[in-house]
Amino acid sequence: MIQFESVAKTFTTGGLPALHDVTLSIAASEIFGVIGRSGAGKSTLVRLINGLERPSSGRVVVDGQDVGAARPADMRALRRRVGMIFQQFGLLSSATVADNMALPLRIAGVPADARKARVADLLDRVGLAAHGHKYPGQLSGGQKQRVGIARAIAGDARILLCDEATSALDPETTRDILSLIADLNRDLGLTIVMITHEMEVVREVCDRVAVLDAGRLVETGPVADIFLRPQAAETRRLLAQAG
Ligand code: ATP
Ligand code: MG
Repeated sequence: MIQFESVAKTFTTGGLPALHDVTLSIAASEIFGVIGRSGAGKSTLVRLINGLERPSSGRVVVDGQDVGAARPADMRALRRRVGMIFQQFGLLSSATVADNMALPLRIAGVPADARKARVADLLDRVGLAAHGHKYPGQLSGGQKQRVGIARAIAGDARILLCDEATSALDPETTRDILSLIADLNRDLGLTIVMITHEMEVVREVCDRVAVLDAGRLVETGPVADIFLRPQAAETRRLLAQAG
């Protein structure tokens, strides 16, 4: 479970907060969407979950761990529980697919033979069994994101953060990646937090969604409710824009 308790995040002293008084809770094994216009605070919100940012005030609690109070050892444990994927995939271009997936295991000190078995597992799970020896430059965008997903969950992650993970992909590849993410949610009980500007993505996979507007949480609810009865003006604007 992920809890935000009156969280504010300010980057510059005296500047406008990127997030303001956000209170929110994300249940284990749910697929939770985060939407809002550019600069609304979506990435900041998600980066608070794995400790890439710390709150200026309030608390972020992930599976009982207060992220703002985490010591280095707590932070390493948190990072193992929380994987993240990105729009531009973030793969090491000089390492093979298999080595990209093995990287977090290597860092965690997993012995070579156990790493090899785990990578074989991961290659299979993300549908890349025949591609382990290739380099990222030899893969399609969808295949690169599969590597990103495998690397993110390699160390037994319980939470997967997705920051515009399908935004660089065409509609068909987007559907493939969403269905892989939905499978991971169903088969492994992974909690998924998904930032997207694509309303179709929200409609297709998310259970609930939060709407951010200028750092404020203006609406949260089940996806069906948000689409049928949007309460906030910003939600109506985002839906109208999506057509
Ligand atoms: P986008 O859709 O463009 O990715 P976003 O909703 O993810 O936008 P954030 O990246 O969370 O928005 O940024 C929210 C606000 O915080 C913006 O005003 C941004 O300029 C500011 N901000 C984000 N990160 C930093 C940083 N490291 N230093 C200073 N300001 C930052
Ligand atoms: Mg962002």
